[in-house]
Amino acid sequence: MSTQWERWTRFRLLCINAHTKDCAAWWIPESSILPCAMPEAPEVEAVARSLRPYVKDKLIRRVHVRHPIAVRPQSPATLKRKTQGARILGAERRGKYLLLPLDQGYLVLHFKFDGQLLWFDQPEDALARSTHVDVTIETNAGMLAFVDPRHLGRVQWFEDPAASPGLRALGVDAFSSEFTVARLAEICRTSRRPLKLLLMDQSRIAGIGNIYSNEALWRARLGPDRICSMLTAQEIHRLHKAVVSVLNRALECCLHPAPDFRDPRWWFNGLETILRAYGREGKPCARCGSLIRRIEQGGRSSFYCPRCQR
Ligand SMILES: [Zn+2]
Repeated sequence: MSTQWERWTRFRLLCINAHTKDCAAWWIPESSILPCAMPEAPEVEAVARSLRPYVKDKLIRRVHVRHPIAVRPQSPATLKRKTQGARILGAERRGKYLLLPLDQGYLVLHFKFDGQLLWFDQPEDALARSTHVDVTIETNAGMLAFVDPRHLGRVQWFEDPAASPGLRALGVDAFSSEFTVARLAEICRTSRRPLKLLLMDQSRIAGIGNIYSNEALWRARLGPDRICSMLTAQEIHRLHKAVVSVLNRALECCLHPAPDFRDPRWWFNGLETILRAYGREGKPCARCGSLIRRIEQGGRSSFYCPRCQR
């Protein structure tokens, strides 16, 4: 079991306080590392860009579902019938979803807390190794494997992205050119919720999760419990700039070095260097020196500086 957890590297070790609070309901592995840092838009975008050269123009020969829970509520038979024989046209991201457009429909993947992709040049390696593998997609040149020991992630087929309830419900993508100051202002103006919860609501703004919502609010110097509709135009401007900059900074980190899907232990390194609030309860704020506080909002931890985030 320990090898499954070894891949969760320094970033997740650093975030252990946050994880302990956020994920008390999950069982604790031997290593006491709780890998609950759900990949957000930057991580999934890095996976899409890095995976593209592996999968583009490959023909799917065979799909093997080892753990049917990974494709629920679809059936392994449906996934196989719809994808075997299809050509993969590329790899894209929408919100926190990874899409592999096929010449007939789409493979839609969601990593949830710790789903991961591996690549095997020799298909037999994927099946021979002791690595936990949920779904394998064998192509004419290598095999893509979806690995998710906790079985929360999903691999499904849809004729069209709009047929996926999760994709259909997504709001404006935080990485897209449609995510403008005006759009953010409109989203905030119509919500009386605390700011942190709005940022994490995928149906309003897609791609931001617990880590980057905390970080964006720290950068924007806005408290997580501020009521959205009460923000001034200047504050919305600051928030927009903070969201865009933290996501781009994280993406840069995720791409240097880029994921190495051939290494079963790969994960993103160096993200801890950009974190100023997330997981830093009791540590001094990098801006003013006050101690970072943690509160619960919507069942998740919010980290903020009580002095400079207002
Ligand atoms: Zn501060």
